Amino acid sequence: KERNGHEPEFLQAVQEVAETVIPYIVKHDIYHGKNILLRMVEPERLISFRVSWVDDSGEIQVNRGYRVQMNSAIGPYKGGLRFHPTVNASILKFLAFEQVFKNSLTTLPMGGGKGGSDFDPKGKSDNEIMRFCHAFMTELYRHIGHNTDVPAGDIGVGAREIGFMFGMYKKLNNTFTGVLTGKGQSWGGSLIRPEATGYGNVYFAENMLKTKNDSFNGKRVVISGSGNVAQFAAEKAIELGATVLTLSDSGGYIVDEDGINTEKLEYVMDLKNNRRGRISEYVTKYPSAKYVEGERPWSVKCDIALPCATQNELNGDEAKMLIDNGCICVSEGANMPSTPEAMHAFQKAGILFAPGKASNAGGVATSGLEMSQNSLRLSWSRKEVDERLKDIMEDIHDSCVKYGKNDDGSIDYVKGANIAGFVKVADAMLAQGVI
Ligand code: NDP
Repeated sequence: KERNGHEPEFLQAVQEVAETVIPYIVKHDIYHGKNILLRMVEPERLISFRVSWVDDSGEIQVNRGYRVQMNSAIGPYKGGLRFHPTVNASILKFLAFEQVFKNSLTTLPMGGGKGGSDFDPKGKSDNEIMRFCHAFMTELYRHIGHNTDVPAGDIGVGAREIGFMFGMYKKLNNTFTGVLTGKGQSWGGSLIRPEATGYGNVYFAENMLKTKNDSFNGKRVVISGSGNVAQFAAEKAIELGATVLTLSDSGGYIVDEDGINTEKLEYVMDLKNNRRGRISEYVTKYPSAKYVEGERPWSVKCDIALPCATQNELNGDEAKMLIDNGCICVSEGANMPSTPEAMHAFQKAGILFAPGKASNAGGVATSGLEMSQNSLRLSWSRKEVDERLKDIMEDIHDSCVKYGKNDDGSIDYVKGANIAGFVKVADAMLAQGVI
């Protein structure tokens, strides 16, 4: 706390892990007295750098770039890049810390990292995005590599940005390797990678519902966000027979009581991915829907809630509202979208609650599969990758059950994910000695 007191998001993420992992360490002699958690909270390396670029009016702009290389005990650093004006060291350290546990849970050999910039892509032209991405990579390239650190996308970084960054990396390094994931299909990308986080979140929730002999079929589902994760969580939920009622962005949310069906979702994908519009435009196209400005969708009555936008987007009061309205399952698509108060409220109410590090791990897992395909110089079919993704989400669910079972038979997925993630990394760190 003394060393990181000025980093609230990072402290929040560490506190959540410490609450469940410290009692486990105390009970297990091999971890006791080794300061393992203290070592895990200190990044192996934190790089901060200047990114200068020229905007369309010819003016020189300066942003700050980062890469947090958190832990490489079980594999090369792996984690996304975020471009958003709120990006700072605290947010990236919280994301990198969570990523260590998440990557460990996937069963694949990946360490944890995260990076990005306070650059705001909103309102920028394609050329400005390209110049920024190229400038960003002219520094980042010396710190990454397919066996060292393999970044991916996150908020504000999708296929377009990965393309620009990959192009510059290849030019500077003169090698064609799988140094970034989320690449385009014709140049090393994996099928299902764009869908993986959203689909994986729904697969995880499906596994949780199964423990109660329940499913998505006929359920009312509330989703926040309208970016990559939200879009594909909605697609899979619709496919499984649910009615998706809401989507949102930083301006507000739309609620469509008739349900956002496949055709309406296609409209949203075009609006957000190609035209880069606002979710409020949905009601112009579908006037029976309602747009609620400046609010989040948690007051809409639902059975299942999938927060898929950003950190701390669901607070204690909103959690209470969801519970009072009969919500039975919350599965986090975003990273740390629930505040500690919200998380404790869900746990107290005994509803199914999955923390992002377990339920949104499908994205990085499929990135891991992209790395394997790149190394093999092969492309697996859509069906093959989707089946591997489903299996991985089931394995993560099983690990959470193994380590998270309470005495009364109920499952604490937060405890389960934290301990299962911790054990693998801690064992590797112990084996490698004090380094
Ligand atoms: P996108 O950039 O594609 O979409 C982000 C969505 O969240 C947009 O609708 C955006 O609205 C909204 N949003 C962002 N910041 C805020 C904010 N401060 N307040 C309200 N709404 C906000 O990102 P992704 O879908 O990729 O990521 C969403 C979440 O999922 C993040 O927490 C990310 O870390 C996590 N995640 C993503 C993975 C992936 O594979 N992409 C993997 C694992 C986790 P607006 O357009 O108005 O900004």
